[in-house]
Amino acid sequence: MAPRESGFQFGGRLALDLTWTLRYRSVSPTELLATPADLDEWISTAVAPVRQLADHGDLASAIELREAIHAGAASRIAGEDIGRGIRGLINDWAARPAPFRSLGGHADAPSHLRPGAEVESALAAVALDAVDLLGSDDGRLRRCEGPGCSLLFHDSSRPGTRRWCSTERCGNRVNTTTYRRRRAGEQPDN
Ligand SMILES: [Zn+2]
Repeated sequence: MAPRESGFQFGGRLALDLTWTLRYRSVSPTELLATPADLDEWISTAVAPVRQLADHGDLASAIELREAIHAGAASRIAGEDIGRGIRGLINDWAARPAPFRSLGGHADAPSHLRPGAEVESALAAVALDAVDLLGSDDGRLRRCEGPGCSLLFHDSSRPGTRRWCSTERCGNRVNTTTYRRRRAGEQPDN
């Protein structure tokens, strides 16, 4: 079996980070949430540590929510209304008990998943972020222009002119390609 794709990546918006778990959506869809254990790992990294492990039903719910968020965000980017079914699904998750935070001994306040409803509360947090993100119209929700990437991202940079999901990944890739092409043009013998 070939080693799996590099793993999860995070861009700072919980709702969009969940949509990033299906990579290369437009060219060669690669599922990073293949098993309930993958979902545990994603939640532990993105939201808060999981103690009560996810099951297959949780995985199906997470993927259903992910696809609703992606469809809603794609509608926003296209300037279209978000369909009623998609809104209903996101709103239903957003209304569930979200994680809570507690004051730590130092300058910290970690998040905790709701005991007995850990995955549910993690997905509620994701859905709440989706409500914030899709409920505003700041023109900063975009699709990455990196070749074959198509990840959705929210540009929170000051100038607001970001074109890539991440400069390190797609920005550099584009710049390197441009550089190579330019070099190739300058040195036709190579
Ligand atoms: Zn990208």
